[in-house]
Amino acid sequence: MSDIVLIGGGVIGLSIAYELATHGASVRVLDQSQLGQESSWAGAGMITPANPEHAPSPEIRLRGESFVRWPDWAARLREETGIDTGFACCGGIGFAPYHSKVEATALAKKLRNEGVRAERLDSPQLRNLEPHLNPAFSDPIYLPDYCQVRNPRLLKALLAACAARGVKLSPGMPAIGFEQQAGRVTAIRTPTEVISAGQFVVCSGAWSQTVLAQAGCQISVEPVHGQIVLLDMLPLPTRRIIEVGSRYIVPRADGHLLVGSTEESIGFNKRNTAEAVAELIRFGCELIPSLKSARLERCWSGLRPGSPNGLPHLGRVPAIDNLFVAAGHFRAGLMLSPITAVLLRQLLLGETPTICLDDFEPHR
Ligand SMILES: Cc1cc2nc3c(=O)[nH]c(=O)nc-3n(C[C@H](O)[C@H](O)[C@H](O)COP(=O)(O)OP(=O)(O)OC[C@H]3O[C@@H](n4cnc5c(N)ncnc54)[C@H](O)[C@@H]3O)c2cc1C
Repeated sequence: MSDIVLIGGGVIGLSIAYELATHGASVRVLDQSQLGQESSWAGAGMITPANPEHAPSPEIRLRGESFVRWPDWAARLREETGIDTGFACCGGIGFAPYHSKVEATALAKKLRNEGVRAERLDSPQLRNLEPHLNPAFSDPIYLPDYCQVRNPRLLKALLAACAARGVKLSPGMPAIGFEQQAGRVTAIRTPTEVISAGQFVVCSGAWSQTVLAQAGCQISVEPVHGQIVLLDMLPLPTRRIIEVGSRYIVPRADGHLLVGSTEESIGFNKRNTAEAVAELIRFGCELIPSLKSARLERCWSGLRPGSPNGLPHLGRVPAIDNLFVAAGHFRAGLMLSPITAVLLRQLLLGETPTICLDDFEPHR
């Protein structure tokens, strides 16, 4: 019998499993399908800079605590598995939601006050840094510490690291019910096994609400569909992440460029639509006109786990002593995976969490 069973093997479940296993816990991860093939695979891998030292809110503190852990997290995974996650500081340029010089200047100042390096660029500076960008896009902010990770590689590394540390990985094993006694979960039911453990964590991404409902818990997590288009072009027209509001281009060193992404509330539906794909390609080519000759490689989509205020649910489920949740990371689950792993390990092993989790309480 494992000490801890995790329901869901995306980046959140695998990161928690890896962290727990490095601290001596015996862990099992169940997934209803293949491990690491849902939202965590589909994401763009942007790791936005944040600084825990000057964070004005718990959300930014959470981001900052994760951001500072990334270099070491990626290095540990590489050392343990030989897999390079592609974590790298590539820098980023943001154009929105600020529309004027005044707003851009104010935002850059706000970010600097939060301890994040952020510079306003004028048009000649922007042209100098990014000669292929359409000059119609102006008043950007330059974030030199913006990072990225190759999330499919991150997932491979996490799977290898978990396996090497003795985590029992069980793909194709959906949780379909909970057995409970005296305010505790005693076992998880799957179609083929009843699995007992000391503690349980629901980290089932966009499906977490459904899984928690099986235990009688009402915690809101909604699927938010995001579509991405993959282009291919060498030499790359940019090496930085370029963001315009919720749209972005993320260049990979090998010539791939991810153009994303939509936000659609259409339930558990992962289809790519002609309209969204056309709109993303139009956006990419408007931002970087030379992309008109890029090769269209493929498109895909994923279901982000959305929570009512965009913050993840992290903590113990009320009224059930040994059931925890780590879900609802919305657009930032890859970015927040190292700190989520640390916080859940601390909760599960009875340690004091690094940060106060009141704002992330599952029943907030
Ligand atoms: C297009 C797109 C772009 C994104 N870009 C970024 C980005 O740049 N940076 C960033 O930080 N984040 C990004 N995200 C968000 C990020 O991908 C998610 O926040 C993160 O992957 C959530 O991880 P997860 O492990 O909670 O969910 P998932 O990866 O979805 O994993 C949940 C797992 O639970 C399993 N499961 C579900 N129900 C059950 C059950 N009953 N029993 C057993 N297993 C079950 C599923 O099969 C799945 O494998 C993006 C997302 C999308 C879709």
